[in-house]
Amino acid sequence: MGTLPRESDEREAAGAMSSIYLDNNATTRPSSQVVEAMLPYYREHFHNPSSPYPAAEAVADALRKARGQVARLFGAERADEVTFTSGGTESIQSAIGAAARAANGRTRILTSTVEHSAAKASARHLSEQGFEWVQIDVDREGRLDRDALFAALDERTALVSLMLANNETGVCTDLSGVGEACRSAGARFHLDAVQMPGKGALDVRALGADYASLAAHKFHGPKGVGALYVRSGAPFEALVVGGPQEAERRAGTENVPGAIGMGCAAETARMHGTDADALERMRGLRDRLETEILAAVPGANTNGASQPRVPNTTSITFPTVDADTLLMLLGEAGVAASAGSACDAKRRGPSPVLLAMGRSEEDATRTLRFSTSHETTESEIAGAVAAVRASIEALGSLD
Ligand code: PLP
Repeated sequence: MGTLPRESDEREAAGAMSSIYLDNNATTRPSSQVVEAMLPYYREHFHNPSSPYPAAEAVADALRKARGQVARLFGAERADEVTFTSGGTESIQSAIGAAARAANGRTRILTSTVEHSAAKASARHLSEQGFEWVQIDVDREGRLDRDALFAALDERTALVSLMLANNETGVCTDLSGVGEACRSAGARFHLDAVQMPGKGALDVRALGADYASLAAHKFHGPKGVGALYVRSGAPFEALVVGGPQEAERRAGTENVPGAIGMGCAAETARMHGTDADALERMRGLRDRLETEILAAVPGANTNGASQPRVPNTTSITFPTVDADTLLMLLGEAGVAASAGSACDAKRRGPSPVLLAMGRSEEDATRTLRFSTSHETTESEIAGAVAAVRASIEALGSLD
């Protein structure tokens, strides 16, 4: 399987600010295939898919096709198990809210301590309304305490919400047996799969998920569109009401170009996520980046590298340099990385994920995340390593 079209000339012509983009867990560049697929739905096929004439029916057909493409990415049995949303956050909050509304006297919500803030904010909101929110710990390598999870999962549990891959460290949660345990306890299981497409296989059925969430912009699709999987038969009450769209799961005229773009991106992500060569190439570049940075900067450490990880992510704690300063110097050198979750970047403060992994506040504020894509090249990795070395030298932190 080939990599995504490089389009580097196109990007240079557009005067891309950061020539080495290593922040793909924050968002990815929409592929030109995706943009091309969307354009006709802005220009010619702008009709409302609910309208009663052939041009509108053609749009409804295209929406159906996109739903099927996204269903295949999820590994869903049926296309009608997929609802288009505005993104990962809405999908997650819809799923958690739906499970809570169907709790039927159950009062416990289980998450891990390293979930995305979208899931944590939903759980916190429910805890303010009388639910008991239990956060299961991870160890220093980001590994979930599965014994604690299974011990807390009982007849009081309404919902378990866990991520498949962590956005900051890339660590994959060991979910074996979680779906079955939820089913036998009568609890619902929501999977935050936002960081997985294109980086590994996704199979909501094999994992026993009742709900699962995706965001198109994390896998070379457009922003402002996501998808929620609701297993056929799982309870669901819409968060956004007021119209019959999306089988009454999400009211409002559909974001047709967004859904078309997501469908197109889903096809490529499904191929990449199951293509051993493409994944190996991705892992090789990430490993090279990690190894060379660790060799260039004595005292630098990885976070979660001993665990199964998605092949594009590395989290590195630097000795004595503040992440914001390093990011600024890297940015000036044309390298885009991040200090953790993009959503928390503006909130400041140390990463809750790293604190949950037992890192000190100081170490958490000295940590950078680099995340590649299938477009990343060897020479970009070499350029990034050189920029890290030069930045740290400039800060006087290398002997
Ligand atoms: N879940 C995870 C694991 C994420 O990484 C993100 C985004 O960073 C989200 C959920 C939220 O997705 P969005 O920002 O598209 O709403």
